[in-house]
Amino acid sequence: MKFVYDFAEGNKDLKDLLGGKGANLAEMTNLGLPVPPGFTITTEACQQYLRNGQHVDGLAGEIDTHLEALESAMGRRLGDPADPLLVSVRSGAKFSMPGMMETVLNVGLNDASVAGLSRQAGGNDRFAWDSYRRLIQMFGKTVCDVPGHEFEDALHEAKTAKGVTDDVQLDAEDLRALVTAYKKVFVKHTGHDFPQDPREQLDLAVEAVFRSWNADRAVLYRRQERIPTDLGTAVNVVAMVFGNLGSDSGTGVAFTRDPATGEQGVYGDYLANAQGEDVVAGIRNTLPLADLEQLDKTSYDELMRIMATLEGHYRDLCDIEFTIERGKLWMLQTRVGKRTAAAAFTIAAQLVDEGVIDLDEALTRVSGAQLAQLMFPRFDLSGSPESITRGVGASPGAAYGQVVFTSQQAVEVAAEGRPVILVRRETNPDDLPGMIAANGILTSRGGKTSHAAVVARGMGKTCVCGADDVAVSQDSFAVGEAVVREGDVISIDGTTGRVYLGEVPVRPSEVVQYFEGDLDPAHANDPLVAAVHRLITHADEKRRLTVRTNADTGADAARARRFGAQGIGLCRTEHMFLGDRRELVERLILARNETERNEALVALQPLQRADFLEIFREMNGLPVTVRLIDPPLHEFLPSLEELAVKVAVAHEHGRHVEHDEQLLAAVRRMHEQNPMLGLRGVRLGLVIPGLFAMQVRAIAEAAVALAAEGGNPRPEIMVPLVGAVQELETVRAEAEKIISEVAGSSGVRILIGTMIEVPRAALTAGQIAEAAEFFSFGTNDLTQMAWGFSRDDVEGAFFWRYLELGIFGISPFESIDADGVGRLVTIAAEEGRAARPGLKLGVCGEHGGDPDSVHFFHQVGLDYVSCSPFRVPIARLEAGRAAVESEGSDHR
Ligand code: PEP
Ligand code: MG
Repeated sequence: MKFVYDFAEGNKDLKDLLGGKGANLAEMTNLGLPVPPGFTITTEACQQYLRNGQHVDGLAGEIDTHLEALESAMGRRLGDPADPLLVSVRSGAKFSMPGMMETVLNVGLNDASVAGLSRQAGGNDRFAWDSYRRLIQMFGKTVCDVPGHEFEDALHEAKTAKGVTDDVQLDAEDLRALVTAYKKVFVKHTGHDFPQDPREQLDLAVEAVFRSWNADRAVLYRRQERIPTDLGTAVNVVAMVFGNLGSDSGTGVAFTRDPATGEQGVYGDYLANAQGEDVVAGIRNTLPLADLEQLDKTSYDELMRIMATLEGHYRDLCDIEFTIERGKLWMLQTRVGKRTAAAAFTIAAQLVDEGVIDLDEALTRVSGAQLAQLMFPRFDLSGSPESITRGVGASPGAAYGQVVFTSQQAVEVAAEGRPVILVRRETNPDDLPGMIAANGILTSRGGKTSHAAVVARGMGKTCVCGADDVAVSQDSFAVGEAVVREGDVISIDGTTGRVYLGEVPVRPSEVVQYFEGDLDPAHANDPLVAAVHRLITHADEKRRLTVRTNADTGADAARARRFGAQGIGLCRTEHMFLGDRRELVERLILARNETERNEALVALQPLQRADFLEIFREMNGLPVTVRLIDPPLHEFLPSLEELAVKVAVAHEHGRHVEHDEQLLAAVRRMHEQNPMLGLRGVRLGLVIPGLFAMQVRAIAEAAVALAAEGGNPRPEIMVPLVGAVQELETVRAEAEKIISEVAGSSGVRILIGTMIEVPRAALTAGQIAEAAEFFSFGTNDLTQMAWGFSRDDVEGAFFWRYLELGIFGISPFESIDADGVGRLVTIAAEEGRAARPGLKLGVCGEHGGDPDSVHFFHQVGLDYVSCSPFRVPIARLEAGRAAVESEGSDHR
C-alpha cells in the first residue's frame, strides 16, 4: 500500500485518500499554480496508525523518499544548520473540520538551524528566534500535551519584564531568552529536552496530527456535522513559506464571491507581515483584500488571475489561503468554499446565468436543509444576547414572548395581542389551543418526536424541547440560579435550541413570504427570492415523487397548497375530537348500551362531516387521505390522577359527583400498560361498533356535498395500525357498504387503503395489498416498533449515549434508518406492488419531510411523500435533487 503522495501525484478527486486540503493542493500544483512543494501522507496511514495504536509499516521509508525529493526540489536539507529547509505539518480530512485538528509549523528548527534561518532571512535574528519559539510552543502543545497556558504565561512574563504589551516589541535577544524559558517548560512537563533531531520532530508531529483525529473536540464536531468517525485525517508536509519577513510579506484569506450573500466579486482579508495563525488569532486588524492592490500590485494581480482560474476550474465559489513571502505569492490552500444558505441559492443561480453550470447541477448545489434555514424567522444576534440554557431545537424559528405556564393563559395573553411563550414540562393534546396561540413553545422533557415537537413542526411554530435543566413549577421556572416568572419575557431559538432572557429582535423570512404569495415589495427584486423561485421550479420539473402534506384543518390545507402540496397524505382525525367535542367523546366512551353509543355517534357525525367538507374544499381536485381515528380513546379522558383527586376532594366534602365517578371508573377500566401497543388504530374500529362507520359516512357525505357544489373531491380512507389483512378486510367490507349507500350514484370515488406502520404489515404486504388500494408508510410507528423504541421517551432519555457510541449518527425518528426500517419499507413496496400492480405508495411519517429520507423514498420508488406544510417546499426541492442525482448515476 502506498502511503505518501507527492503533490504532483494527486488530484482533487482523491479527497478520500488525501483529504480535502491535500487533494486540492495537488490539483493546484497540477494547474501550475504557485504551491510550495510538499507531499501528503494518506488517510489510510492514519487509519492504520489509529488501529494499531502506533507504528505504520513502511511509512517511514516512504517519508524518507519523499523528503529527499522535497529537499532536492528546494535545494535545502531539513534542519540543515547552514541553510535549513523547514516544513509545516498540517492536518486535512476528507470533510473540512475547521480548527478541530492540529498543525505544527517550522518543523526543522533547532539550536543550530535557527542561525541558518536567520541568514536565509537576510540576518533577521528576531524572525529566526520568533519562529523557533513558535515551534517549541506548537510542538509542546500538540505533540507532547504541554498545557498551552504555560507558554502563554512565559510570553506574558517576558513582556512584563520588558514593560511592553505587544509581541512585536520583543527583540531577538528577548525571544532567544523566551526560547530558553519555553524549553524549561517543555522539560518540566515531558521529562526530556525539546528534540533537536529534525527528522524526529517530523515523525512526532505527523503522529500527533494522526492522533488529533480523535481529540475530544474533533469527535464532538464530527458528531454534530454527521461526519463518519473512521475516515481519519491525511497529513500534509509542506515547505514553509513566511509571511512575517517584513512589510513586503503577508498572509490572507479570500473568497471568489461573498460567502455570506453570494454577491459577485472577490472578498477577503489581508494582514501584512504576519503568519496565518496571527490572522486566526485576531492579534491585529486585517485589511480588506482590495488594499493589497496598493501594497503589492504585482502579487494582487497574480492573485486575481489565480482566483479566476480556480473559479473557472472548480466551477464554484472557492476559498483560498495565501502567503506573500518577500513579494512572491504562494497558495497554501483552496477548496470549494463554505457559504450561508442564502449564498448557496444565489450563487447556484448566478452560475447558471454565467453559463458555468446548468440547472440540474445548480440543484445539486443547494439542499433542503439550507432551504429550511431560509424559511424560518431569524434572531438578530447583533446585540449578543445572553443564552441561559439550551434544549433540543425541535421546530426551527425564532420567537420571543411573555412566559405563561398553561394553555389557557397562552390563549388569554395572546388575545390581548401580546406575544407568548408557552412553557410546559411536556405538552399533551389539551394544550393545543395554547400552542396555537403561542409564538413559541419550550418544554423541559421530550425529544424531537415528542407531542410538542411534532405538533409545533406541523404548525411551523418555534419549539425548544427537552431543556432538562429548566425546572418548571406552577408560575415560574428556574435554570440554575436564574428564575423566570410568569409574565417575564424570554426568546427561544428552535434551530439552535437556545433560550435567551428578554426580547431578541426577530426578522421574518422573505422566502416564506414568497411561497405565501405575500412578498414584501422591499424584496421584490431580491436575488435570493429569484434564485429560490428558479431552483424550486426546476425541482418541480425534474421530480418523480409527488409531494403531499399532513394537514387536519382547512387553514393548514390551504397554506400547504400555497406551498405547493399536491394533496393531503395524512389527515389525522383525532384532533377533531378535542375541545368542545370532548364531551361527546366522553358520552361515547361512557355509553351503557347501543342506544347511548349511537346517540353520541349521531351527534359527532355532522361535526366530522363539516370538518371534512372544509378540507376537501381547500384541496378541491387533489387527493385527501383521511385516516380513521388512531389513538386510544382514554387519551380523550382526563388523567387518572386528576380525576382521582377531584373525586376524593368531592367525597371529603360529602358531594356526590356521579359523572366524574363514572369517568374515573372508565379511566381505570381502560388503563393500559403500553397504550401505544394497545387498543388503538384499526383495533378501535373492530371493537367499538359504529365508530369507524360514523367517520366513513361523514367522509362520504362531505365528498358528495362538494361534488354537488360542482367540486371534485378525491377522498381516500386510510386505516391505521393494520397488522393483518383480515383486520383491513373487515373494516373495508363495512366501509364499502356505507360508501355505496351514500355515494353510490354521485360519481364520487373513494379509495380505501392502509397505513403500513406495524412490522407485520410490512412483512405480509403481499396479502394486505389484496385489500388495499394504497399503502402509506407510517414511519413514526414503524420505527418505534422495528426498534422497540418508545417514540415519546427515548430521544430525551438515552439517545445521547447511542449517538456517542455511534450506534447511529442521527435519531432514526428523524431520518429513516435505511438498513432496518427502510428494509421493511422496501419489502412492503416490492411485495405490495407484486400483488397489486399500480398500488399507490406513499409515506406520511415525519420522515416524509426529511431531506435524506426523501432521497431514500425516491430510490425505493414510492409515489409520494407527505409532510407538514412548512416542509413541503423542502420535500419538493429534495425530490428534484433525488431525481437529478439518480439520472446522474444512471448515466455513469
Ligand atoms: C406514523 O406512525 O408514522 C404516523 C404517520 O402516524 P402517527 O404519527 O399519527 O402515529
Ligand atoms: Mg402511526
